[in-house]
Amino acid sequence: MAEKITPRSENYSDWYIDIVTQAKLADYSPVRGSMVIRPRGYAIWEKVQSALDTMFKETGHENAYFPLLIPEEFMRREAEHVEGFAPELAVVTHGGGQELDEPLVIRPTSETIIWSMYKKWIQSYRDLPLLINQWANVMRWEKRTRLFLRTSEFLWQEGHTAHATAEEAEEETKTMLNVYKTFAEEYMALPVLTGVKSENEKFAGAIDTYAIEALMQDGKALQAGTSHFLGQNFAKAFDVSFQNKEGKLEHVWASSWGVSTRLIGALIMAHSDDSGLVLPPRLAPTKVAVVPIFRNKTKEQVMAYAEKIFGEIKEEVGGLPKSVILDTDEQNSPGWKFAEYEMLGVPVRVEIGPRDMENNKVMVVRRDTKEKILMDASEAPAKIPRLLEEIQQGLFQKAKAFREENSRTAESYDEFREIFSGDGGKGFVTAAWNGDPAVEDRIKGETKATIRVLPFGNEEEARGKTCIFTGEPAKHMAVFARAY
Ligand code: AMP
Repeated sequence: MAEKITPRSENYSDWYIDIVTQAKLADYSPVRGSMVIRPRGYAIWEKVQSALDTMFKETGHENAYFPLLIPEEFMRREAEHVEGFAPELAVVTHGGGQELDEPLVIRPTSETIIWSMYKKWIQSYRDLPLLINQWANVMRWEKRTRLFLRTSEFLWQEGHTAHATAEEAEEETKTMLNVYKTFAEEYMALPVLTGVKSENEKFAGAIDTYAIEALMQDGKALQAGTSHFLGQNFAKAFDVSFQNKEGKLEHVWASSWGVSTRLIGALIMAHSDDSGLVLPPRLAPTKVAVVPIFRNKTKEQVMAYAEKIFGEIKEEVGGLPKSVILDTDEQNSPGWKFAEYEMLGVPVRVEIGPRDMENNKVMVVRRDTKEKILMDASEAPAKIPRLLEEIQQGLFQKAKAFREENSRTAESYDEFREIFSGDGGKGFVTAAWNGDPAVEDRIKGETKATIRVLPFGNEEEARGKTCIFTGEPAKHMAVFARAY
């Protein structure tokens, strides 16, 4: 039997780490803050990549690859960018046994190196828009780390686009925010809030940062993806200009956007339970496990029967070789296997024993609700794809209901403080705010809650309202939460 998972109610953080390690998704590496992504975790990442990559290509983007090492001097060209990233940089000072003339940084993000290349590639409006994405690893020297959610080295994609006008760049920023929202909701079964970040929380070097924010089961928020409108900041820093249709030179407008292996942490924290991982079927590397149950006497017959049904299910479900598996192992008991598949988050388990065989039945078990459904063997293969879709929708609806139960509006600072008193997160709290970053800092100090997003259109809603923190006129209806 696998080790026991710490229950969520006892210690949420230990529960999370237990799932990551016991479902064999990732492991600690010899270097603090970096992690090893094991095959089961990497298979989920490949699913994420494949779905997103298709969506990026459908919106006109191409993949490319830029180097890991960036001249340190590049980082200094954009004042806010260097200020934001300096504390997180890993710097290479030696190579081949010699001190380098110029230190190199390991990319924490690639705006600088990419815009140094865009200078070569962009001369005229005909070269625009330039819509490039890269899949890569990056490194940020994080002080407090947690497997998947925040590591020093992480895998991600970063889109970097160049445009002739501010409007086009802003439209791109929002298009990609919507791509992330669609992916989170339709593949991850994770409802997300969208909006713009406050000054305190925005990306170093951006004019505006847009984000998708999700709520985890402990009531804490997680930033799941960001899309930045960079204005002309990087074009100016790297002197990238183009000749417009009227023959005049102008600086290029930019966007950048990214999601990382953090998404796997979000999946775990949003859906899993005390028996282990729960995965939305669309991102599950194995969607169905067929488990024959037999004694020596019945082995051959049950195996043959299970194999036939396995073949039919595989045909209906499709996907990669491991999408549907047949468990032929004879070492472990059926009970052990059931617990193991629950731990690993396989969305549907099909149990087939001698009695099922006699009656032409199979027992189909949902991982999400643990409901057992006795099906006719002839009908099960066709029904299972629909059941997988039902599970996908069910997980989304459950997460949405949870978010709704844990979203409220605070009418006074007393009420706000009451919600965020004590330990743990307490969901999303909307409050009227005067827009002052110093006030946001003070609230963070007093309650550990930060502004997650300023939802689209919130300014109109704030009109005529009073800031609950200062009594001054409100500028925004801001959504606060404690966050990872
Ligand atoms: P940023 O470039 O800071 O906007 O981050 C881009 C994406 O990477 C966001 O979706 C973040 O949630 C994610 N991210 C940022 N830092 C880390 C980290 N240390 N580990 C994993 N993901 C991260």
